[in-house]
Formats: sequence, structure tokens, C-alpha cells
Amino acid sequence: MSDPSLNQHPNPHAAVWEQLYGSLAQNFSDNVYEKWLKSLTFYESTGGRVLLSAPSHFIRDWILARYADQLLSLLQKSDSTIKSLDIIVRKTATSKEGPAFDTQKITSSEVEPTSPSVPILQMSQLHIKGLDPRFTFDNFVVGKPNELAYAAARRVADAESVYFNPLFLYGGVGLGKTHLMHALAWHIHHHQPNRKVIYMSAEQFMYQFVSSLRHKDIISFREQFRSVDVLMIDDVQFISGKDSTQEEFFHTFNALVDQKRQIVISADKSPSDLEGIQERMRSRLGWGLVADIHPTTYELRLGILESKAENLPIQIPREVLELLAHKITSNIRELEGALNRIMAHATLVGRTVTILSAQEVLVDLLRAYEKYVTIADIQKHVAEHYNVRVSDMSSTKRLRVVARPRQVAMYLCKKLTSKSLPEIGRNFGGRDHTTVMHAVKKVEELKGTDPVFRDDIEMLERILGNG
Ligand code: ADP
Ligand code: MG
Repeated sequence: MSDPSLNQHPNPHAAVWEQLYGSLAQNFSDNVYEKWLKSLTFYESTGGRVLLSAPSHFIRDWILARYADQLLSLLQKSDSTIKSLDIIVRKTATSKEGPAFDTQKITSSEVEPTSPSVPILQMSQLHIKGLDPRFTFDNFVVGKPNELAYAAARRVADAESVYFNPLFLYGGVGLGKTHLMHALAWHIHHHQPNRKVIYMSAEQFMYQFVSSLRHKDIISFREQFRSVDVLMIDDVQFISGKDSTQEEFFHTFNALVDQKRQIVISADKSPSDLEGIQERMRSRLGWGLVADIHPTTYELRLGILESKAENLPIQIPREVLELLAHKITSNIRELEGALNRIMAHATLVGRTVTILSAQEVLVDLLRAYEKYVTIADIQKHVAEHYNVRVSDMSSTKRLRVVARPRQVAMYLCKKLTSKSLPEIGRNFGGRDHTTVMHAVKKVEELKGTDPVFRDDIEMLERILGNG
């Protein structure tokens, strides 16, 4: 051991663990750390065996299956007397009964699977519990990009018998697949309470399957699907490459289709584009209705923002919603995140929301979108606009016909990118940062005195800003 402070701990292995625990967030991804490893605590150590405790069987098994080796080798790096690592389940003091999960934090895909002996009824209740109450059809804003998926989900939700089997929904991350699936499950739960619905992520399917193998209780695992009317599996791409899970899934799938039970699947790609999935499975997945959710349009983004803003306790001006819809184009989850941040900020500081305050709160996020405008883009557009050569942007020519466009381009680089003055200068034939600063001042000045020039610049800004 290199760190002498470690010796002060009554149990040296506990101290090694504490030290490692403090650096777990650096050694693992945020997601892995937050979801799994964070809940680990030291329990005891005897001989070379370190025993940690986890708050549930689910977490314990998950960590043992995936991260235990890495944890052990990290421990051994600090203390070579550690020979093995194990995890026991110890519910935390705050959780008296039921699953040792903070139900606020878990999402549907992480509901603790019941042990194989738990009756089916409880199983399905657990799954309803895992559904997000906000993910309903009422809260789903329909637009061109998602209308087919929405219509298909509605049709299946309203149907008494099987329509298309399976219904296969696919699209990029954060575009509403899980929302639609939960909505479908809620709808059936409310309108046809006798129909049994199971919703689970492919990850959870895999986990339950593997764990039933370990407990030698595959029968109970299969049993739970026997009486299901609608089986929904989210993010099926997750089983790619996992052959035994795929076999089991295929088996479950076929058994249910034979019995005319509805299956609903989601994935990030179409059946034919799914990699690492056996060919027969892939073709089988495409037999029913395949509906894709396209990337969002401006109209849909604005529509979603308007509908979410309606339910907020504070007023958000329309121009702010337009700004977000305009700038945050990646997916709906990010759009919601931006809205939440604006709201949190406004509630905390008690100020009204304006375009400026919104821009300030979201500066990092908006910058991430701005990076798509590069210095080269700006130089190219400005050169075209003023009918000069792109090479003139870096040349030493001082004639006004090229010097002015060059200054305009520098100004736009400062305004539309997050590059520093020296960096911009370097891209303009190795000019000094003071030259760039001068250009920015000059252009600002001209904008104030010459309305034609100002219109010109604003037009360029709009063109580039949208790019
Ligand atoms: P995916 O499963 O495709 O990654 P989600 O269903 O989790 O995406 O959606 C991400 C977020 O965006 C959720 O909070 C969801 O409620 C919201 N969302 C997605 N599509 C819509 C929509 N059409 N209307 C309202 N909210 C939506
Ligand atoms: Mg999802």
C-alpha cells in the first residue's frame, strides 16, 4: 500500500475499498456508476476475501455478472493481499419492506425481477408499477414524423384481437418509442383490465432469463409469459450477440404468436438493419407491421414544447419555445431537458423567462449545436456573398474589397462559434488576436451606422445559424 493514511482504518481492506469507492465515478461510465456501483458498501473482509453489500439481489447479480472482475482488479492494484471479491445483499435501513429500490429513481426497465417463486399476478402488478405515468397517449404529441407509429400503437391498444404481429416500432434515441409503448400498456390496463400485459426491456428479459438459469428455474421464467395477452419488449437491439438469450426470446416469441397473442417490439433500427441478431429472428421480427419514427421536424418540436409548457407553473414566452425548437434538433429528450432547465432556473431565481435568460441558462447546450458552423463554413459563405475568393480570407491583401469581407467573417466566427480570438486569428492567415478584436469592433460599429450593412450581416447570420 502506498498511501500511509490507509493504515489508520481499523480494517485495511475497508480503507482500500473506501478509496476505490471515491474514484469509481472516474473508472466507470456515469450510467454504470449511478445505476449500479454507487449503492455498494463495504461489509467485511476475511483473509483475502472482500465482502461488499448491495441493496438488492438484482443489483448484486448484475454487478457480479458484469463489473466484479474489474472491481477486483482495481482493488488488487491498491492491495495485492486481496484475492477475491463477493457481494451480499443487505437492504438499507430506509427500505423496510418490498424491493430495496428507491421507486422514484427506477425506470421501468429496472424493476427488480421477482424471484422465480413469486406468483404471476404480482409479477404483472410490478410491471404496471414500472410504467411511467406521464407516458400516455394523451401526452403524446402527434406529427408527421411519428404519425404512423402512433396510429399503429393506438390500433393495437384498441383492438380486441391481434392485428399485426409483431408491431415493430423503431427509431433513434429519444424520439418516443418507450413513451408509445407505455402509453399502449396504460391504455390496455385502463380499458381492458382483464388482458394481461407484460412490458419489459430486452435488458430485463435477458437478466431474468440468465438469473433463472442460475437459480435452475427456467420453468417459472417461461411460466410468466404463458398467460400474457400482450408482450412488449423495449430496446430489443440489446440482445444482439447474446445467443442463448436470443434462443429463449425466439422460443417465447413463437409460442406467443402461435397462440395469437399480441407482441410489440421496439428497437433503434429496422429489423433488417439489426446487427448481431440471428437471421431467422430478424426476418420473423419484420413479419407484422414495421413502423418507424423519423427524426423530429421544427413543427413537431414546437408542438411538443407548447404542450409541455402548458402544464408548467411558470409562463414561458413563445419566442423562447421557438428558440428551443429551432436550436435543439437532436431529440425530444434533450428538448425536454432544456425546458426543465429553464424552468428550474426561473423558479429558483424568481425571474421571468426571456430569450436572453434562456440563452444564458442553456449556453453550454446551445454551444454544442453551434459547433456545426465551422470557421471554414463561415469563410466560404462570406466569400461567396461578397464575391471574393476563399483564399482572400487568409491573404495579406489590404484592399477594402477583401479586407471588409474578411472582417465580417471574423466577426461572424466570434459570434457563431465558440472559438477564441487567437484561434480565429490563426484561421485567417495567422493573424493576431488583436486584429480579430479590431474586426469585431469595426463590424459592430458599422452595423450601428449603416442599416444596409446591418441587414446584410443579419442575413448572413441567419443563413449560417441555420446550417
Ligand atoms: P426513446 O424510447 O425513443 O428513446 P422516449 O420514449 O424515452 O424515447 O422519449 C424521450 C422523452 O421524450 C420522453 O420524456 C417522452 O415523454 C418525450 N417524448 C417523445 N416523443 C414525444 C411526443 N411525441 N410527445 C410528447 N413527448 C414525447
Ligand atoms: Mg426507450
